[in-house]
Amino acid sequence: MTQKQWIEFAALREELDFPTVLQHYGLTHSEGKTQLKINCPFHEDHSPSCSINMTRGIFKCFGCAAKGNVLEFVIQMEGGNPEDREDIYKGALTAIEILGRTPEDFAKPSSNPKGKKPAHKASGKADTKPSKQRDAKTADKPAQRASDDAESPAKKNAVLDLQLDLEHEHPFLIERGIEPDMAERYGLGFCAGGIMKGRIAIPIHNQLGELVAYVGRYANEHIPDKVDRYRFPKRFLKSLELYNIHRAMTLEKRYLVLVEGYWSAIRLHDAGIPVVALMGTSVSHAQAQLVREAGFKFITQLLDGDDPGRAAAKENAHILAKHVYVRTLELPDGEKPDTVSEDFLKQFG
Ligand SMILES: [Zn+2]
Repeated sequence: MTQKQWIEFAALREELDFPTVLQHYGLTHSEGKTQLKINCPFHEDHSPSCSINMTRGIFKCFGCAAKGNVLEFVIQMEGGNPEDREDIYKGALTAIEILGRTPEDFAKPSSNPKGKKPAHKASGKADTKPSKQRDAKTADKPAQRASDDAESPAKKNAVLDLQLDLEHEHPFLIERGIEPDMAERYGLGFCAGGIMKGRIAIPIHNQLGELVAYVGRYANEHIPDKVDRYRFPKRFLKSLELYNIHRAMTLEKRYLVLVEGYWSAIRLHDAGIPVVALMGTSVSHAQAQLVREAGFKFITQLLDGDDPGRAAAKENAHILAKHVYVRTLELPDGEKPDTVSEDFLKQFG
């Protein structure tokens, strides 16, 4: 093992909160101050089975065995084991990135004397915070959150130096109106082997058009238990990218349409509409900043016509309005930008 930056786990847990973490992973939650509910990301969940206790900073799923504190949530979202020392460390680094901070910020125990041995800390289970301590710290929250706005410049997803060998013709794509030539143009296709085996791999590029990740969509609507619909690379920070931004920029428009998913983005882009996809429902500050930096002045939110989409739109409008002019269009129940009529799309032409 190489030498690691020492991380004060207690201080990290103190600062890390569920709403920030949920937003990072694009997970929508119910409204509430002390109790939140989400569709469990650790099993295929259609009713919100995962309960989050905001006072204690812990979660528990009633549909599967998943439970723990906010740091353990991140560890498990990254595919790690919260009992494993290496995974705890990796999860902590991800959590620090989510907060837009650096490991150095958590290098010193804030209230403890120097020279404390890291050994037992690193091996310790990321334990649950007593509520009193959390409350005592909430006072300095606003100042810390203010750093969110300045998060993007330092953080960056690494450029990938590989290309997957993909089959552009697949029933899953045909069903979505994506013919082989179109799949080839968007660089996506079915992956027969490797970590994306059995999935439709979709390349994600940064605003410079550099490949930063492949996301793998399970290539069937019937998804087995404990299998993710979408699989992202472990270290990939979705909140820093917008799917299709590099293509949208080539259209040289001042306005942009914001959708949730890949298929919606592809349909609109193919119709000549400048569009980016969130790869989820919630926009991050970094994404909002990216929109402006890419030269767009006006944005139209066109999220899915369902509860998560509508719930996210309000919060998103708030964040986006700091950077661009925002308007929000609501789709009819059950409609998505990839299923609405051609007539509806004409208004963006
Ligand atoms: Zn679960």
